[in-house]
Amino acid sequence: MSELRDDSLTGVRVIVAPGRSTRPDTFRAQAPLSPAAVASCPFCAGNEHETPPEVARTGSGQPDTPGWRVRVVPNKYPIVGEGLAGTHEVIVLSPAHNRSFADLDPDAAREVLLVVRDRAATHLMAGCTHAQVFVNHGRAAGASIEHPHAQVLALDFVPPFVELVLDRFAKARRDLTADAIDEARQDAGLVRDDGATIWCPPASIGAYSVRMALEGAGARFDLAPDTDIATIATALQWLLGALRRVLGDVPYNVVVNSAPRDEPRPFHWWVDVVPRLTVTAGFEFGTGLHVCTVEPDAAAAALLDAS
Ligand SMILES: [Zn+2]
Repeated sequence: MSELRDDSLTGVRVIVAPGRSTRPDTFRAQAPLSPAAVASCPFCAGNEHETPPEVARTGSGQPDTPGWRVRVVPNKYPIVGEGLAGTHEVIVLSPAHNRSFADLDPDAAREVLLVVRDRAATHLMAGCTHAQVFVNHGRAAGASIEHPHAQVLALDFVPPFVELVLDRFAKARRDLTADAIDEARQDAGLVRDDGATIWCPPASIGAYSVRMALEGAGARFDLAPDTDIATIATALQWLLGALRRVLGDVPYNVVVNSAPRDEPRPFHWWVDVVPRLTVTAGFEFGTGLHVCTVEPDAAAAALLDAS
């Protein structure tokens, strides 16, 4: 039975249509690595000369040589920066080609997220208006390079979706993220509530979409204290591991929802993880509706079972 639902944070309308459900084991897993792809990868240790000059690293060594643990470089094919003000950077999660965020040791995962936060903060302090943080994992999720990486895209304006969500918070005169955490705790969609609260929203924008947030967090990810970043790193590693146990190594997006700089409207940042199990197609483009083929409560139960 299909049902129309509105997301409480974003207002996005979703048709939950479990009747269309494809069983998880029929979702397409990613193709295995080929040695040739690794040898020619610009993000692998030893191939540093194949990226634009690096802007930051952790670890040791000189810029654009091995020795790094996390490496930040400008995106070679930026969305902004040429003709449109802004900055587009890539954060390479580790020197290892096949180690995704879920596979990093906990200290390394925390370090990665601290670097990502600091890059967002750097651009906002330099005068950019909004910093969008995201991970595209797998080709079907938008990654053109297989080597695990995150991206920060800083803009000099507030993007329309962010504007819309800020308006919802202002009109509600409530902390909608805190409300959503409370609802998740009383609902079957709760996946985990240990430091970060992790849940499958009733109006998930796709099968196995998952949201995580911290009680009492502020408006901006770039201003989050180290302790909050560490909590999110732990939660994200756990969740990506659980998704892999349930679905296999499927493509996914991680999206940080954060307020812009100098924003007077209230906000409470959160993170969405969206496995890319189906393709956004004609119906979605024509209507602005999303279709979720797995009942979010059932997805939550499966993720819990896999932990
Ligand atoms: Zn690589």
